[in-house]
Amino acid sequence: MMNFDFSDEQILLRKTVKDFVDCEIMPFIGEWDAKGYFDKNILSKLADLGLMGVCIPENYGGSGMDYNSLAIVCEELERGDTAFRTAVSVHTGLNSMTLLQWGTEEQKQKYLVSQATGKKIGAFGLTEPGAGSDVASLQSTAKREGDYYVLNGQKTWISLCDNADHFLVFAYTDKNKRHNGISAFIVERTMEGFSSKATKGKLGIRAGNTGELFFDQVKVPKQNLLGNEGDGFKIAMAALDNGRFTVAAGACGQIMACLESCVDYCHNRKTFGKEIGKHQLVQQMIAKMEAGLQMSRLLVYRAGELKNKGVRNTRETSLAKWQACDFANQAADDAVQIHGAYGYSNEYPVERYLRNSKAPVIYEGTREIHTIMQAEYVLGYRKDKPLSQMLPAWRG
Ligand SMILES: Cc1cc2nc3c(=O)[nH]c(=O)nc-3n(C[C@H](O)[C@H](O)[C@H](O)COP(=O)(O)OP(=O)(O)OC[C@H]3O[C@@H](n4cnc5c(N)ncnc54)[C@H](O)[C@@H]3O)c2cc1C
Repeated sequence: MMNFDFSDEQILLRKTVKDFVDCEIMPFIGEWDAKGYFDKNILSKLADLGLMGVCIPENYGGSGMDYNSLAIVCEELERGDTAFRTAVSVHTGLNSMTLLQWGTEEQKQKYLVSQATGKKIGAFGLTEPGAGSDVASLQSTAKREGDYYVLNGQKTWISLCDNADHFLVFAYTDKNKRHNGISAFIVERTMEGFSSKATKGKLGIRAGNTGELFFDQVKVPKQNLLGNEGDGFKIAMAALDNGRFTVAAGACGQIMACLESCVDYCHNRKTFGKEIGKHQLVQQMIAKMEAGLQMSRLLVYRAGELKNKGVRNTRETSLAKWQACDFANQAADDAVQIHGAYGYSNEYPVERYLRNSKAPVIYEGTREIHTIMQAEYVLGYRKDKPLSQMLPAWRG
């Protein structure tokens, strides 16, 4: 049975994040976006509110809330800007939750606690110049030498590249084994031979930090291997189940922002003697946004419920991510249309929404990858097995 009611705590949580976004992000985001400036202080302020470890149990420094509470945080944050939701997606969804599921007690104490409290920031390094959707094409290698793995390679399009303290990095320990030869490592920024460089000239998420990581003979202690050698691909896919959920939830927030701006504009702009909101073709775009928001939310909260129960949900999360991001991208496109020429300038926020809404259709599985996944599930070509490591630990 699905419960569509929010708890009093969740209602308060939504209000807290909404107020935070209204005060700390909305007044400044236009300028940050124009300058390409990522304000790391926002992450410290989110940490003060306990929002950098929403789904992490309290005994590891987190807030011990459920998945749909994380969805609420992501929705409200992306209403402010995609950059900050992206930061929570990689820090919590892709990194901390993965440490929670796969880390040893020693790794959790050393890395997870400081991340859940927001004292340290985590990121996720999977993509390489020659390996995006096709993960097994990655070139990075980690060679065991005594008590260390020597890591060499390059990652690209990594969110928080210049701001994260800890990175989950995927590299081949045995290239001959293809998917089964990839391993996951916890890498610290301070390790010798590590460097990062931000990417300039991005279409959107300009108020975020994205770029490259370089590993030149980085000596990673063997204790920093996450899971076993060869578990890397499985770990990456399990991480994406969490990351994609946060992206899908964020997309709902993007649609909310589009609606807010459009409703206001519809009431204030007049053509042919009436508010543009009274023209049926404009109403059609508004109605599509509302339908997209409500359908996306249902998919997101259903995936969240499955996660809360510890049921494998790769299929449902993929569907939520695919649909919500497409709806958000369409909503942003229509939002610019409703604003006419004014929507084409940064006098209004909708052009930022359109630019920002494109990356989520690409990252954490492109639209095409999710389309293929859904078709394969229906056709019976893809079947998921339950994985014990994926159970939500806060219930255990
Ligand atoms: C702003 C931003 C932030 C990001 N942050 C991170 C991060 O923090 N960590 C990280 O590891 N990565 C990150 N990424 C990278 C992102 O995950 C990849 O870009 C994504 O996985 C797609 O890979 P690609 O860009 O190499 O495209 P490709 O895989 O080269 O795909 C190119 C095109 O071909 C299509 N295609 C590929 N394979 C198939 C197929 N089998 N059938 C049909 N079509 C196909 C794709 O859908 C796409 O349209 C980020 C990207 C962006 C834009």
